[in-house]
Amino acid sequence: MYLAKTISEARAFRRQNIGTWGLVPTMGALHQGHLSLVKHARAETDFVAVSIFVNPTQFAAGGDFDKYPRTLERDLEFLKPYAVDLVFAPSNAEMYPPNFQTYVTVEEIAQPLEGAMRPGHFRGVATVVSKLFHIVQPDRAYFGQKDAQQVAVLKQMVRDLNFPLEIVVGETMREENGLAMSSRNAYLSSAEHDAASVLYRALCAARDAYLRGERNGEALRAEMREVLSQESRAQVDYVSAADPLTLQELDEIKNGALLSLAVRFGATRLIDNILVGA
Ligand code: AMP
Repeated sequence: MYLAKTISEARAFRRQNIGTWGLVPTMGALHQGHLSLVKHARAETDFVAVSIFVNPTQFAAGGDFDKYPRTLERDLEFLKPYAVDLVFAPSNAEMYPPNFQTYVTVEEIAQPLEGAMRPGHFRGVATVVSKLFHIVQPDRAYFGQKDAQQVAVLKQMVRDLNFPLEIVVGETMREENGLAMSSRNAYLSSAEHDAASVLYRALCAARDAYLRGERNGEALRAEMREVLSQESRAQVDYVSAADPLTLQELDEIKNGALLSLAVRFGATRLIDNILVGA
């Protein structure tokens, strides 16, 4: 496992190793969700790169950029058994040198849901992922369904800007209580961690309603709100039953739906989703 901290080191290693490459972009504080993507890449490509970079441009001013967990040594240990070829862990100055001024903006698909709650977030994501794609030049890039809108935004970007690669989506890994794994779960107190199982319970309640034949989008959103309201610690940012392709809210579900929600527990903001009928 070669650790590259500079772009030129990563590029040189990439050039020396001819074959198909898979890239798993992460912000570190690695967990089983990240690992499932690494294993997926390992099974499909000759070489596997994992990037570890807490990307400042996707955090809002006053967001959790400063306190986001940074655990590079532990992450390297965590990856060791999985035959990762390249870990790319650049500094901020390496990725955003002085006078950096070029950004990638994906339009409609980045507007609703997380885009509405976190202005500028997807501009930061699309910009850093573009840079990672240019640096590592993967044939396949692996992202988690947990961040469903991120997947939609990046698929749009790959299509629109002709990146010569395929985006592969890995299923959401969950803890025993149903809570989707996330580096941000480390912020939760043990009581909040227990309470946060309500996200998945809300999604499952809406999915069950869908499976019973409910096709009214508002009824599914109401189902999620109802379950979330039973947990006093949960402060709801949004619940959504949206078209899986456009991410626009649905009145009536004809071709499946992305059920998603964002909920705060104290200062910690969690998101989750499941697809139904798609
Ligand atoms: P992050 O480090 O949070 O930026 O996540 C890096 C990648 O791992 C993204 O593609 C995420 O969607 C994915 N990921 C995060 N959590 C999970 C999870 N619980 N299951 C599967 N993939 C995940």
